[in-house]
Amino acid sequence: MEIYKDILKLREDFFKDFDLDKIKNLLDDTKFEKLPIIDNISDEKISEIIKIIEPKNIILKLMEKYDLKLDENFSDFEEKIVKILDGEEIDIDEEKLNTYEIIFRVYGVPFTAIWKAIKDKIDLSKFDENFCPICGGSFDYAYIDEEGKKFLVCDLCRYPWRYTRVKCPICENEDQNKLSYLQFEGDYEFVRIYQCENCSESHKVLLVDKIKKYPSVELANIETIPLEFAIDEK
Ligand SMILES: [Zn+2]
Ligand SMILES: [Zn+2]
Repeated sequence: MEIYKDILKLREDFFKDFDLDKIKNLLDDTKFEKLPIIDNISDEKISEIIKIIEPKNIILKLMEKYDLKLDENFSDFEEKIVKILDGEEIDIDEEKLNTYEIIFRVYGVPFTAIWKAIKDKIDLSKFDENFCPICGGSFDYAYIDEEGKKFLVCDLCRYPWRYTRVKCPICENEDQNKLSYLQFEGDYEFVRIYQCENCSESHKVLLVDKIKKYPSVELANIETIPLEFAIDEK
């Protein structure tokens, strides 16, 4: 859990003094006609954005802190991550799972920069799919905001997109008789675990107006990961 918190902090710190105009200018003449959004951006521009963000620096900092080592060169790892991002299945050495996890998560940062830079230029109000409209990634968790609207948060780029409230984001079942939830009490009264009878999967939904313990939804998500496992084991 510590690693997730560090990645969140590094991500937040990074954007605190990052000049988004660098990305805005680069994407100035890009038309956003198809989804996910990154499919409109040329590979050259994506590599330029990665060069500007330099996720490698963040990764190396984390690897040092957690004493994670690479015995291959870094570019081999990068290549594998690109394959994972392209949806390819690759063999990963169990011992290096943590390193991959870090690299994978940090590689979402350039995509985060993209949506932060162009969010006023795109209209996703009619989007209601279970994949991220920015990077095509899957959702990590859901939350319901103060107005009662439900959002899914991307596992990779952290973009939150609007989603139908009574609908399973895994199998897209909308039959409310097949969706039920377990609500935690006390300190964790902001956590609901929805269970879908159609696909037998569950997903976590955080109630933003009840989160008092944590300064952000993202941190509340990390702090409640163990609750998801508690449900899985039942
Ligand atoms: Zn995404
Ligand atoms: Zn389902």
